[in-house]
Amino acid sequence: MANVERFAFHVPSLEELVGVLQNGLKANFADVQVSVVDCPDLTKDPFTFPAKGICGKPRIADVGGVPYLIPLVNREKIYDMNVVAREMELPGAFILGAGAAPFRTLGVNAEFMPIIQAESEERRAVNGSYIAQINPADGGCLLEKYSEKYEDCDFGLLANLYASQGQPGKVIEVKARGRTGKHNFVTCMRETLGKHYGDKPVGMGGTFVIQKGKAKVHIMPPEFSSCPLNSDEDVNNWLKFFEVKAPLICQTVFVSRDPGFDLRVEHTHCFSHHGEGGHYHYDTTPDTAQYLGYFLPAELLYRIDRPKETHLVGRD
Ligand SMILES: [Zn+2]
Repeated sequence: MANVERFAFHVPSLEELVGVLQNGLKANFADVQVSVVDCPDLTKDPFTFPAKGICGKPRIADVGGVPYLIPLVNREKIYDMNVVAREMELPGAFILGAGAAPFRTLGVNAEFMPIIQAESEERRAVNGSYIAQINPADGGCLLEKYSEKYEDCDFGLLANLYASQGQPGKVIEVKARGRTGKHNFVTCMRETLGKHYGDKPVGMGGTFVIQKGKAKVHIMPPEFSSCPLNSDEDVNNWLKFFEVKAPLICQTVFVSRDPGFDLRVEHTHCFSHHGEGGHYHYDTTPDTAQYLGYFLPAELLYRIDRPKETHLVGRD
C-alpha cells in the first residue's frame, strides 16, 4: 500500500454552506439559486452513474500528483481504484473525480473521468468511467466509455477523487446562469469558501452539468513529453485545447485551502453523451452559460502517495 496521510476537514452545515455559496456566486453569475435538496437519482440521465447518490461518509482523496507527470513522466505510477477505496477506509465506495488515464492499459496517455463503484465483499466493481484521448485519425477528441474495452479499475499518475457510500440523501444544489465575473464556476465556489472559512480548510466534491453554452477543455497528448516540461508555458504548448459543447457532465473536487499536503486545490473533468470531454477550464460563452450541480462537503482528506519532490507547474 502507498503512503497515506489523513486530515479532518472543517465541515459546515449544509444550511450554512447554502448562504455562503449563494453570496459568493452572486458576484460571479447573473442568476444564482443555492438550496438543500434530495440528491436526484444519479443512475438516470444525464449522469448514468453506477450509484444513486453522493451521500454517506463523504471523503476526498488526492492521489499521486502533477510531479509524476512533469517535467518527465514516472511510468511506475499506476493505481487501482479498489485499493484507493480501501486506503480511504471505504471499501465499495462510489468514487468520482478527475485524473490521468491508466496509460499502461491504454498504451497511450489520456484524460480520465473516474466514475466507479469500487468492489466490496458482496459485489464486483462497476466501472462507469470515461476516457478522452486525441483521436489518432483526425487529431480531435475521442471520448470512450472505459468498460467497453477494458476490465480493470486502474488509473495513472494522479487523481482528485470524491468518495462516498453512493447513497441518496440531502445535498447542496447550485443553479447558476449568465457568468458576469472572470472566475470559472468551480474556482468561484472554491474562492468563496476560502474567503469565508479562512484557515479552516473545507473540501467539497460532486457533479455538475453545463446545461447550455460551450467550454474550454484540454486533453493530454497520447505520448508523454520526451523533453522536460519546465514551465506552465511548456505544459500549455504540450496540451491540446478544445472548445466543447453542452450538455457536459462534470466531476469535481475542490478544497478551500491546502492544509499543507501539496494538494491540487481544484480539478474537474467532464464527459458527454455526444463524444466530447476533457479537463474543464472555463465556459467560453458567459452569456449563455448555465450550470446545475450537486455537492457535499467532505469530512476527511486522504493524501495518497504524495510526491517527495514537488513544484507548482501545471496545476491549472
Ligand atoms: Zn485534469
